[in-house]
Amino acid sequence: MRDNEHKRGVSRTLVNLLFPARCPICDDIVPAAEGDVCLGCRIKPQYIKEPRCARCGKQLGDDTKLFCGDCVQRKHIFEYGYALYDYQSMRKSIYRFKYGGRCEYAKFYARDIWEKLRDEICLMKADAIIPVPIHTSRLRSRGYNQAQLVAAELSKLTGIPIYENLVRRVRKTLPQKELTAQERQNNLKKAFNISADVVKLNKTILVDDIYTTGSTLDAVALELKRHGVGTVYFITLCIGEGL
Ligand SMILES: [Zn+2]
Ligand SMILES: [Zn+2]
Repeated sequence: MRDNEHKRGVSRTLVNLLFPARCPICDDIVPAAEGDVCLGCRIKPQYIKEPRCARCGKQLGDDTKLFCGDCVQRKHIFEYGYALYDYQSMRKSIYRFKYGGRCEYAKFYARDIWEKLRDEICLMKADAIIPVPIHTSRLRSRGYNQAQLVAAELSKLTGIPIYENLVRRVRKTLPQKELTAQERQNNLKKAFNISADVVKLNKTILVDDIYTTGSTLDAVALELKRHGVGTVYFITLCIGEGL
């Protein structure tokens, strides 16, 4: 027993020497004693806190209002959701995760979501976690879907089953950030397709990396509801102003 533990300890040390763990926030190598995030980086993420918009989860300046300006103006198809970080504080980390091949950050992000939003997720009583898909051509060039990686880790932590192939992105869309709100909605029309019968799913949580206007989440929520899903919540890694 003790021998096995010793062997495991040795192999862990070897793995650390060969593939040193990188801090998911600054990407420097983290000394093993500091855990998975280097000490100096622990204060960097700005977490979205109450008061938040009761629909999109965006940070509100004060608690006299229930919804943010965007959600007062525009009706959403999803019920509500939460974002973990303020976008600007984690911009570089998310960028490396999305475009720089740092898939291993997913574990850290999911643990952080579970630590900070545990009560909120439990209250949802969801029976499925569904990652927002990317188009297969993008999946081929990038090698992974960042939302799917976070969703898979979150599924392990929460025990809520993941349905990763349920929603497919069937139409290649233009990058959302270059479009106006109206163009975004048109851009996403018929972009998603449900591949199986989802009538049995009642409450679902969509997982994505960035909340911009909510158009993508709405487009997926619309398809899910058309197939009989009752309630659609979401969790995203970050949300911010003027994305
Ligand atoms: Zn760091
Ligand atoms: Zn809002």
